[in-house]
Amino acid sequence: MATRLAVTDTKLAIVTEDLWRVYKIGNNIEVQALRGLNLEIEPGHFIALKGRSGSGKTTLLNCLSGLDRPTSGSARVLGYDLSEMNDRQLTRWRREQLGFIFQSFGLLPTLSAYENVELMLRIKGAPARERHKRAMYCLDLVGLRKWADHRPYELSGGQQQRVAIARSLANEPRLMLADEPTGELDSETAREILGLFQTIVDEEQITMLMASHDPLVDDYVDMILQLKDGQLAT
Ligand code: ADP
Ligand code: MG
Repeated sequence: MATRLAVTDTKLAIVTEDLWRVYKIGNNIEVQALRGLNLEIEPGHFIALKGRSGSGKTTLLNCLSGLDRPTSGSARVLGYDLSEMNDRQLTRWRREQLGFIFQSFGLLPTLSAYENVELMLRIKGAPARERHKRAMYCLDLVGLRKWADHRPYELSGGQQQRVAIARSLANEPRLMLADEPTGELDSETAREILGLFQTIVDEEQITMLMASHDPLVDDYVDMILQLKDGQLAT
């Protein structure tokens, strides 16, 4: 990545120090969504971020991806101090190094599975041959090679989430952030997706941080971080 920014820490995937995010709503009302979080996450692990609704999971993911700016404290992600990057640098960094998976899949309905994945490589400006190779590799990884030409509405919820996973892998991210990725799936399908995440973390050697309040995830992850009212619960 063409940038003057110093890589401050290459060993840990994520480090936060005294991270606060306070939302101001109205004149005198504040919501303290994150209250002084100190995190250290090693690379190559599958980590669950658990906690009740409102405990700060989504806010934390947004601060770690640079979609949101913390009120105070610091976040270093993949060696980059996010506070040192401007919005353009953050956008580019996100596109090159991060993958995202959401509860609602977020596929483009008029595009086939293949086209949804390949679009990410077009945005990146990859040449046609490389786009094809990588898109098929990613669809293969999630077990959907045969479904490449199908549109989202022809696929089950689990298959749609697999397409979304293939899409998030297209740019060879080093870190995947998933926000309630099994929230709309039945428990059998949720287990399949969680098993797939395990395989991907192992085979692609990436770090995966997954916000979820699904008890199923405990069986699949390497580590659980429990959030309570914006702080780590022990
Ligand atoms: P979770 O993902 O664990 O459900 P969130 O990070 O969405 O939790 O929310 C944490 C707290 O911050 C909640 O009290 C929520 O209402 C509040 N919050 C989240 N986003 C905003 C926002 N944009 N403006 C004001 N308050 C917010
Ligand atoms: Mg949330």
